[in-house]
Amino acid sequence: MATPVRWRTTDDNSPQGSLFDADALLDHHVGKGEFRGLEFLHVNARRIINEVPNVSRMPFRYTINAYRGCSHACAYCFARPTHAYLDLDIGRDFDTKIVVKVNAVERLRAELRPKRWGGHHIAMGTNTDPYQRAEGKYHLTRGIVEVLTEAANPFSILTKSTLILRDLDLLVEAIQRADVHVNFSIGTLDEEVWKLAEPGTPHPRQRVEAVARLNAAGVPCGVLVAPILPGLSDRPEQVAAVKAACAEAGASSVSVINLHLRPGVREHFMGWLGEARPDLVPTYERLYRKGAYLRGEAGGGG
Ligand code: SF4
Repeated sequence: MATPVRWRTTDDNSPQGSLFDADALLDHHVGKGEFRGLEFLHVNARRIINEVPNVSRMPFRYTINAYRGCSHACAYCFARPTHAYLDLDIGRDFDTKIVVKVNAVERLRAELRPKRWGGHHIAMGTNTDPYQRAEGKYHLTRGIVEVLTEAANPFSILTKSTLILRDLDLLVEAIQRADVHVNFSIGTLDEEVWKLAEPGTPHPRQRVEAVARLNAAGVPCGVLVAPILPGLSDRPEQVAAVKAACAEAGASSVSVINLHLRPGVREHFMGWLGEARPDLVPTYERLYRKGAYLRGEAGGGG
């Protein structure tokens, strides 16, 4: 049965105020077949290009997120609090109730009109994975990449999904016309840690293969070895194994990023850890005693 959602008219996370009109929740669809277990909440987004607040330390100014929520279900996901704005919970609802901005492609076409838009770089994958399972059904990311390619607008994509290979031909075309970059997030090659912490994602070895295929096709693809989870994926040999696999795959860059636990995510993550690995709870409480960043690490993006 579809879930009732109390739709808010404001989004505290957006500098532009409301992302959706109050009456923009169009429909609920319950996933069937390969989408069983998911629920899709169709909305009309008022805007699709989001401007990141100046105070943000993120290395990008404009973003597009055609979905909200993410079936990749990473325990540590920093975007979980975005579901709270919709009065959905940031745990299972975030993993299974996916907001789909069904007008994303037509909005983008309108917002890229030359008089309104300066041709800035647009980052995708900053708050949800643009190639999560929903994309297999809705093809919104594909449509967005098509529009950006037609406009020769630079963009980047961050993903954990091999579904991006479906659009390889399109990305090869895009790179002829604009500055385009892909990053895969591959935090570990350890099967146990992967299944525990990122249960909805493709196998990390498949992600490494995707990195190799993108680079071989001429689409520059780097890797974020992220997040490194203390006590789970931080042994030097674990990190070295990911870096070696990335180098072999021809990754255009490799960056290692530690886990950050911001308020909201932290409570969810610690609850998960208490169930999955209670033995590690005291370690995390000690390491993150002073805030979102690992003890001894300076604050930063990522
Ligand atoms: S893939 Fe990214 S957006 Fe999706 S749940 Fe994992 S961390 Fe969050």
